[in-house]
Amino acid sequence: MLASELDLGLSNMKKILVTGGAGFLGSHLCETLLAQGHDILCVDNFFTGSKENVAHLLKYPSFELMRFDITFPLYVEVDEIYNLACPASPIHYQFDPVQTTKTSVHGAINMLGLAKRVKAKILQASTSEVYGDPDVHPQPESYWGRVNPVGLRSCYDEGKRCAETLFFDYWRQHQLRIKVVRIFNTYGPRMHPNDGRVVSNIIVQALKGEDITVYGDGTQTRSFCYVDDLIEAMIRAMNTPDNFTGPINIGNPKEFTIMQLAKQVIAMTASKSNIVFRPLPSDDPKQRQPNIALAKDILNWTPSIELDEGLEKTINYFRTRTVAR
Ligand code: NAD
Ligand code: UDP
Ligand code: UDP
Repeated sequence: MLASELDLGLSNMKKILVTGGAGFLGSHLCETLLAQGHDILCVDNFFTGSKENVAHLLKYPSFELMRFDITFPLYVEVDEIYNLACPASPIHYQFDPVQTTKTSVHGAINMLGLAKRVKAKILQASTSEVYGDPDVHPQPESYWGRVNPVGLRSCYDEGKRCAETLFFDYWRQHQLRIKVVRIFNTYGPRMHPNDGRVVSNIIVQALKGEDITVYGDGTQTRSFCYVDDLIEAMIRAMNTPDNFTGPINIGNPKEFTIMQLAKQVIAMTASKSNIVFRPLPSDDPKQRQPNIALAKDILNWTPSIELDEGLEKTINYFRTRTVAR
């Protein structure tokens, strides 16, 4: 807690830095933390995020937006840091893979250095990609993963793995208060319409009546978590006792094939689109489902939004954008 806030007696109000705060997840996180009465510093270089995602928050005096690249040192005074900055979709993170690794690794070092100086608690948005193409299913946190270190996805997967290493070394070496959450596929309003992720791709294609692209034969699986559930779990993770570091899986364990997802979106949008098959990208994991036993136990959390309910909200969001543009 900052001295100025203690003086004001605002003991529950925290100054919170959200890196990547103008992105898909970051904008929802800023919104929720702001609504809880905190003072938010949203830092983003707008590589994949946009001002539009947080435009509705700019009118609040407790919300501050800063254009900044976290691969450079940042000197601010905060109580908590949520480190979300990093392009998350294969198209975007493979656009400039060296910058992706820099964002994960240099960015983590800078944010950890900042947390160390101001004694802030810091949460890392890690990913299920640290498990790679898993040979253990579903994946518990104790599984070390099966990641290709030299492939097209490695800049993201290995960058995130190295960031986890840094978090745990700062914890061991400097006694930082850390939280590492491993996020599984999450979807919802404010996903980037052109980032190639499967939920946004299929919805936009269905709404435009374009061919729906299924990569491979569509039998690969993913487990989709609606953004509101995810944000709830992330904030709960930040608020766990100091002796809990994670890593902790957050996601929805209900698993669907990509073909099932495509058919459901077609039905829900009453689309006339056809499904077409495209080659499976290299290192594309065959199956993915989180084991969330730890999250249930430690966070007392379980996702509550079913796929059809979440898809409906997401389809409505893209419908307004697809029609408006
Ligand atoms: P996103 O691309 O919408 O958000 C990332 C944000 O980080 C963007 O606003 C982008 O402009 C910003 N950014 C990128 N590099 C930056 C840099 N060097 N400095 C400052 N800002 C930078 O993606 P998202 O889905 O909101 O993901 C947020 C975080 O959650 C990422 O770290 C991602 O790896 C992680 N994650 C997301 C998912 C998911 O399904 N959405 C799954 C696993 C992990
Ligand atoms: N750093 C930062 N903001 C701060 C403090 C540090 O961005 O308020 C960055 C700085 O670039 C530094 C890095 O974090 O190099 C790691 O800091 P640390 O104190 O761990 O190590 P240093 O490199 O300073 O010895
Ligand atoms: N996918 C697909 N069609 C698309 C986009 C993605 O079939 O238009 C597949 C992709 O090959 C992968 C799954 O959907 O098997 C999830 O892809 P996404 O990029 O959303 O997430 P990730 O692979 O990182 O889990």
